[in-house]
Amino acid sequence: TSMQDRNRGLISDLDRKVDELARVNMALYESNRLKGDFLSTMSHELRTPLNSIIGFSEVLLNAGNLSDKQHRYAGNIMTSGQQLLALINDVLDLAKAESGKMRFHPETVHAAELCEQLLALHKPAAEKKNVELRLSVPPDLPAVRQDVGKLRQILANLISNAIKFTPEGGRVTLAASVVGGELVLTVEDTGVGIADEEQDSVFDKFRQSANPLTREQGGTGLGLSIVKELTKLLGGDVTLKSELGRGSTFTVRVTTDLKEEPLLAFDLPGE
Ligand code: ADP
Repeated sequence: TSMQDRNRGLISDLDRKVDELARVNMALYESNRLKGDFLSTMSHELRTPLNSIIGFSEVLLNAGNLSDKQHRYAGNIMTSGQQLLALINDVLDLAKAESGKMRFHPETVHAAELCEQLLALHKPAAEKKNVELRLSVPPDLPAVRQDVGKLRQILANLISNAIKFTPEGGRVTLAASVVGGELVLTVEDTGVGIADEEQDSVFDKFRQSANPLTREQGGTGLGLSIVKELTKLLGGDVTLKSELGRGSTFTVRVTTDLKEEPLLAFDLPGE
């Protein structure tokens, strides 16, 4: 019986711990939701005046009767406004993904078509730097059920990074395949690479590599965090293989059968 007593004691300890965890979980869920609400309201309030700053500096630039100096100043206003807008959009995307409020739109996706579209979109940026874009997709790639908008956002982030961090004359290869019930998308570049000790942290918010070759490129440091959150929500993950000076390969794995309801960032207790 002393053993039974001890077990009962252990069980009630465990019960208390579970209750405590559930309360913490609930509080986390709620604070996460509030953060999401706050950020999305703020982002909206910031975007409205910013759009008019960008719009009117454009009008000024096109007015044609500016001195060189005035033209340069108006150009600076527009570029800074665009940078700020990109940052706000990234913050909003991330907040949405993290708050568990993101809605999905599963549909039939032909990954080959999607990849072609994305390469076409990035062709001008690649040509400017003389970076070759390649596509590697098997001819019999089956259609999958996924959210095409989210996949586009993930790939656009990875491809624009790959071009950004690949010097003149390099190559960026986009590949798609379906392996073991998952859609596998890889973006491989022959660029500057990422040091071993930084390979985990580049997915952190606002984190940029200490490598001076990448520091000089502008950016918000949010792109890869968004990629990571989105792939998680799409039922998968993103991994990185890279070698300094040789290049990087980002591999995204997502389910081929996405369901309508998003997964909550934190499961509500009792569900
Ligand atoms: P951003 O590109 O806006 O700085 P990201 O979150 O997309 O932010 O990337 C974070 C950092 O990871 C980059 O600043 C860069 O240092 C590194 N990085 C990302 N992609 C690559 C790549 N393809 N090759 C080398 N470094 C990369």
